Amino acid sequence: MRVHNTGKRFAAGVLAITLVGGAVPANIGVFDLSGSTVVVASAEESEQNISKATITMKAHSPKVLSVELDGTILQKNIDYTVSYTQKDTDGNTIEFSEPPKAAGNYQAVITGIGDYQGVVYRAFDIVGSGYEGISIIDGGQGTHTPSNEHLWLIFDKNKNTKWCSRVISAGEYANRDSDWLLFEADTPFAIHNYVLTTANDTSRYTGRNWKSWRIYGSNSAAAAEYSPTYTDHKVTDIDEDIWSLVHQVTDDTVLEPVNFTEFPYAVPHNKCKYKYYLLILDDIVDSYDNIAQMSEIEFNADLPVTVTHVDAVPVGCLNEGNIECWYDEYNDKYYLDEEATKEITEEEVIIPTIGRHTYGEPEWNWDEKTQTVTATFTCEACGEKHTVDAEIQRSSIAATCTTPAYTSYTAVVEFEGETYRSKPKIYKGAGALGHSYGRPEWKYDEKNHTVTATFKCERCTDVQTIDATITSKTTSPTYIKDGKIVYTAAVKFNGQTYTTNKTVILDKLTYTPPTITYLKGEGAVKLQWTDIKGAEKYGVAGFINGKWRMIDEGEGTSYILKDLQAGKEYKVCVATKLNGEWFTDPSNAITVTPKPKAVKDNPAVTYAKGNNAVKLSWDTVDGAEKYAVAGYVNGRWQILAEGIGTSYVLRDLKAGFQYKVAVSAMFNGNWNTDFSNAITVTPNAAATSPYPKFETQVKDNRIGFKWEAVPDAEQYAIAVYRAGRWVPMKQFDSSVHTWTTPQVKSGTYTAVVIAKINGEWVTAHASSNAVTIKVF
Ligand SMILES: [Zn+2]
Ligand SMILES: [Zn+2]
Repeated sequence: MRVHNTGKRFAAGVLAITLVGGAVPANIGVFDLSGSTVVVASAEESEQNISKATITMKAHSPKVLSVELDGTILQKNIDYTVSYTQKDTDGNTIEFSEPPKAAGNYQAVITGIGDYQGVVYRAFDIVGSGYEGISIIDGGQGTHTPSNEHLWLIFDKNKNTKWCSRVISAGEYANRDSDWLLFEADTPFAIHNYVLTTANDTSRYTGRNWKSWRIYGSNSAAAAEYSPTYTDHKVTDIDEDIWSLVHQVTDDTVLEPVNFTEFPYAVPHNKCKYKYYLLILDDIVDSYDNIAQMSEIEFNADLPVTVTHVDAVPVGCLNEGNIECWYDEYNDKYYLDEEATKEITEEEVIIPTIGRHTYGEPEWNWDEKTQTVTATFTCEACGEKHTVDAEIQRSSIAATCTTPAYTSYTAVVEFEGETYRSKPKIYKGAGALGHSYGRPEWKYDEKNHTVTATFKCERCTDVQTIDATITSKTTSPTYIKDGKIVYTAAVKFNGQTYTTNKTVILDKLTYTPPTITYLKGEGAVKLQWTDIKGAEKYGVAGFINGKWRMIDEGEGTSYILKDLQAGKEYKVCVATKLNGEWFTDPSNAITVTPKPKAVKDNPAVTYAKGNNAVKLSWDTVDGAEKYAVAGYVNGRWQILAEGIGTSYVLRDLKAGFQYKVAVSAMFNGNWNTDFSNAITVTPNAAATSPYPKFETQVKDNRIGFKWEAVPDAEQYAIAVYRAGRWVPMKQFDSSVHTWTTPQVKSGTYTAVVIAKINGEWVTAHASSNAVTIKVF
């Protein structure tokens, strides 16, 4: 980059330097910018040439506050760097990178880097001060202040030079804006005192003395950029976020209209250390000619010890106290003695406070008339009293069984973040309700010997258990009705008698029929049975024709059954009448029979012959119930007939045949089977005209014959009755015993089978042997 250090290119339009702080500093002679040089880099080298940037700096500070190009704020060390130059007494340029601190004239060299190029030079000076480590940054003063009486001279440690600020407008004195001075300390410090030294001719121009001023301090970097705003020529709008007031004097009474005289001001108890300070002169003693003057200001001057007595202050709850001491307000130092030989620290002087009162429970003040309550709090430490209106809280509690109703009033206050409650005032209401027991719960023991009654309160949990007296009444059971025991329990409780009943059922008596025995008699039996307790009557019943029928009744436990047949069994039972009702349980039935009769011999039998029959006869046998006629048939005795008579005709006997018969008598229902009385009988001998026995069958108009052989038969024949005699029609050998006719006409036929014996057809008695046959 080529730098043109030539005045040819210096044109007013290129100069783009803004002085912060308004126009005021521009006419401070020493800082006249007419000597400044602005060098602009070649325009064609880059469109991003920094030469057109707007540079913001304070006139008397090396700090480049901002570099702005086409609305963009450029970044230090990214877009540009800052270095410094100064010409020495020989005119040589000295370069250095750190911001200068020594008083003198300098140039800030702003060099584009990165996306930027070009260089801008900005002139500034460092005013410095007569004090080590303090630099003046900026200030404002009257527009017509001569260069040899400028603002900085108040800070040069030389009382022969002075700041004499004036404003002259159109030949007349005008209202002046407040003067101000901004300076920076390398090391932050707290101001304990400052000393103002009046000027060389203050006694002559008494109105130039200061009247009202302010000193602010700050540790904010923004403090360096301070620029004033004015309202009616007075500095206003001090930003309290940046600035803190350190000291202020209004209508000063200390300064005197004298020349070259020091007036110290104390800033007692100040501990705040600041890097930046701003002095604002608000007013002067007489503004008629609008000239302010002061030759020196010195901060924290080495002033002689001057003590003032400090009374001991007892520590309070809210305020700290201190011991008795002597205070040097100009040097912010404490001493135990007036001679200031025994210095002590502030901590030793101060008796710290807890910063609050210590209140305990308040005193409650109930005003029954107005129904209001106040709470008076008394500080336990200092006795300070504080009375607060309380709120009254009411609560009602209903009566219970054992406690009365009551209403309680409690006063409540909120005080210093705490809630306080008074003891409740309790007003008794309706009395206790008393327990309310309902019916008791009864409890019997297993044997129903004891009973308890438990009463439970319906409202609360109270329980009362009381032993009851118990009585009982028994109704015995019968065979037809249950019995019962009724237990009655009774208790007296709270003057009232409660009773309850419990019934225990006794089961009906169980009927067990009597056990029956009997004795046999002749045609009779004697029944006997066990006695049934409570029996009113007994009944004897017989099982007759499939049904039980009551035979007789009576009160005894025996009975004779008469008219019984020996050998016969009778089923009987005994019923019992109990409680007016018959109980019949035939499970006790027994079968009885009378004594059996003596069995006699069967009777002797005689007989008389008849034709094909015999008549049997016998005598009666004592005790016989019946008689039977038995025949010996096929090797066995068979009863042929029975009855009660003493004779019997046996018919259909064959002549010439013998039959073995006997008569049996019945005793006790049993036949006497002793057939030793058997006899052999035979009917009369018959004429010899035997006829074959035969039978016939009709089928398909044919008649079949079948016959039995007869002894001595030589031939057989079918005979029909013709012309008054039986004629053999069809004859057969004796070996033939069947024959079937050819078909015959429907009609009635009479026929008989005859035999030829000894050469003659036997036809006598044929009619009685013939049969009639119908053919349909
Ligand atoms: Zn207190
Ligand atoms: Zn209760």
